[in-house]
Amino acid sequence: MSDSSDSELSTEGGAARSLEQHIRQLRQQIPPSVRLIAVTKTFPAAAVRAAYAAEIRDFGESKVQEAAVKQAELSDLADITWHLIGHLQTNKVRKAVQQFDWIHSVDSLKLAEKLDQAAGELHRRPSCCLQVKLADDPSKYGFDLETLIAALPQLDQLTHLRIVGLMTILPYGLSETAQRKIFERARQLAEEINQRGFSQLQIEHLSMGMSGDFAVAIAAGATMIRLGTALFGRRDTSL
Ligand SMILES: *Cc1c(COP(=O)(O)O)cnc(C)c1O
Repeated sequence: MSDSSDSELSTEGGAARSLEQHIRQLRQQIPPSVRLIAVTKTFPAAAVRAAYAAEIRDFGESKVQEAAVKQAELSDLADITWHLIGHLQTNKVRKAVQQFDWIHSVDSLKLAEKLDQAAGELHRRPSCCLQVKLADDPSKYGFDLETLIAALPQLDQLTHLRIVGLMTILPYGLSETAQRKIFERARQLAEEINQRGFSQLQIEHLSMGMSGDFAVAIAAGATMIRLGTALFGRRDTSL
């Protein structure tokens, strides 16, 4: 082995170890009851391994295909829980059901019905969050509040899905006060849904909070936060 490849290897090992340490430190600042989902979209399998070494077991990906490549590389890490957090096209529903334990981005009744059908056929029962849009932000997917309320009785009939959460994404650039209001609205909505006494549908999880707003989300009752940048640094946005 040449000197140069030797030093390259040790540099890489050092970077992975310092990433692991950084992730451990951040995890320690988050209440243990809050589930930390490490969002690894655009980052390589090595980033997953570093977070795994820091005892993270929940990983989030935005795209079914990108996740498939990483999951194949990481098949030795058998106890990872994979979360789909990005918009899902109906033609990728079967793959999503096969590859993911959680789907946070259920954003229409039609998608929920397709997921339910695929889950039944594949003998899977993914945990799901209903993605709801609680702020004016035309760029984001999600149920409108009224559409969601109207769809609840039908969503309650989907026996192959465990619909147990609400997910929301805030627009950029809100004040902390505005952020808090929206996150609290999500928590309130969960309580309202639960008071309706549906036979299956019971909201136990609030998937809310990203790198820029997770502290506010936790204070408002988030049970799952989805962190990318805060753990792994900035993504190459050209990807
Ligand atoms: C990318 C992404 C995240 C992570 O965003 P950061 O700001 O990097 O923490 C969380 N949730 C969803 C839905 C995302 O697409």
